[in-house]
Amino acid sequence: MDKIEIRKKIDKHENRIWKQGMQNKETLINYRMAKQNIKEERLWKNSEEDKIIRKFQSGILPKNKHKDDCTECKVKNSVTHILNDCKIYSQIRIKYNLQNTNILEILQLKGRNKTDDYLKEIYLSML
Ligand SMILES: [Zn+2]
Repeated sequence: MDKIEIRKKIDKHENRIWKQGMQNKETLINYRMAKQNIKEERLWKNSEEDKIIRKFQSGILPKNKHKDDCTECKVKNSVTHILNDCKIYSQIRIKYNLQNTNILEILQLKGRNKTDDYLKEIYLSML
């Protein structure tokens, strides 16, 4: 094996390593892109839920409920009434096992997956 042949072998070897490196990078890029998409999907979902929770926290009800008295309980509609007391939503409260939970606890709970779904379901059922 002369010097030129050795050089060619080394070049071929280096080229193969470089190509493998590029393939690994491409795999990594695809992985990162997929990961990014999953992350954005979660953020979007969370922000929809956050919107609803923020509305409740600031006492905002959907327009059709805002000024009226509750048709079922004959009291003034409010976030507190709807989340804590309203008969219309008692089935949803039972479903989430939140019959004896105070509204302030519901709105202030951290890591509140169960109550997120509860607030969302109540909000959507009011629309
Ligand atoms: Zn009511």
